[in-house]
Amino acid sequence: SGLDTGSYEDDQVATYVGSFPKGFGYGPEEPELEGAPSRGEDKPRILLMGLRRSGKSSIQKVVFHKVSPNETLFLESTNKIIKDDISNSSFVQFQIWDIPGQIDFFDQTFDSEYIFGGCGALIFVIDAQDDYMEALSRLQMAVTRAHKINEAIKFEVFIHKVDGLSDDNKIETQRDILQRATDELADAGMDNIRLSFHLTSIYDHSIFEAFSKVVQKLIPQLAVLENLLDIVISNSKIEKAFLFDVVSKIYIATDTSPVDMQCYELCCDMIDVVIDMSCIYGVRDDGAFDNESASFIKLNSSTVLFLREVNRHLALVCILREDGCENRGIIEYNFKCFRNAIQEVFVARNKQAQAHNGLAGGEVGLSIGSGGTTGDPR
Ligand code: GDP
Repeated sequence: SGLDTGSYEDDQVATYVGSFPKGFGYGPEEPELEGAPSRGEDKPRILLMGLRRSGKSSIQKVVFHKVSPNETLFLESTNKIIKDDISNSSFVQFQIWDIPGQIDFFDQTFDSEYIFGGCGALIFVIDAQDDYMEALSRLQMAVTRAHKINEAIKFEVFIHKVDGLSDDNKIETQRDILQRATDELADAGMDNIRLSFHLTSIYDHSIFEAFSKVVQKLIPQLAVLENLLDIVISNSKIEKAFLFDVVSKIYIATDTSPVDMQCYELCCDMIDVVIDMSCIYGVRDDGAFDNESASFIKLNSSTVLFLREVNRHLALVCILREDGCENRGIIEYNFKCFRNAIQEVFVARNKQAQAHNGLAGGEVGLSIGSGGTTGDPR
């Protein structure tokens, strides 16, 4: 990743080992925040659908279970619904339901009311290296059925395995799939349904990026988080900031300046480095990462990467120019304000979730003072 290990000065890499958990991963742990929403079926749910061998299990394994892409070559094909509960991060709470493509929606045993009813987003995976006509008709069926049951569902189409296509071919395939899918919907009189398309592959960061976008649509507080990040970067001479779910490397929010894929990859790499360091040399094994967990890495491009723990599962990763780091005190101070504000967002969200009897997905009433970084629950 272009890390210039030769140019570190003593204080330029300040990784407090022991801050990340040793056995890093999602486990059956307690929600750490006061009044955390109840666990279970009331969480926003993501459904992962697609034909057999389209890559659903691989996506799930690579994004949420740290399996390396090559290992997915030998995965057994999916033939039942797998409920994968990703519930520990306070913001990223969802389940992935891996549903084989050949499912018959009208079969008695397929409870579509239940499955689509509580679902926030439906991801449909299409293998771009294969003939996709069958997949498209499946997509059409799934979308119309799901929309009938739940109008709020967001439909996301992953045009997957694009690592095998040339750049021209990628664009052509995307255009073709988009055209056919929207035409079919229009023919069926359902052109009010919006589909979003993403080109993905498990062999690069595109799958993480696409998942980030999907997850962000399910976070009602996204605008608040983006606003907070904007305030932090403009007051700290930071160029770009991502709020990461550390385990999956999904960014649940970023400031409103455009995302450059390379910056995102750099930040992902930094998380890997810090986790590896902590796993090898960390002293704590209680599965918690603490308040002081932080790391600065200076790159040979006079850029500095800065990582700071926000809470147990979230980290702020920033990119700044070398001269922007002169005043670390200000960065540190602004970071603390940011962290407090995030906590307030959580508390407000949880209170609201309780008030709504655990119904997920409502808006959080939050207002942010224009000059400061604190959010006051209304
Ligand atoms: P599922 O039946 O939909 O769960 O499909 P699997 O996850 O079992 O994947 C089927 C095959 O596709 C496996 O051999 C994977 O290694 C392969 N695969 C998955 N994702 C990608 C990708 O992004 N690129 C390529 N080239 N192959 C992939």
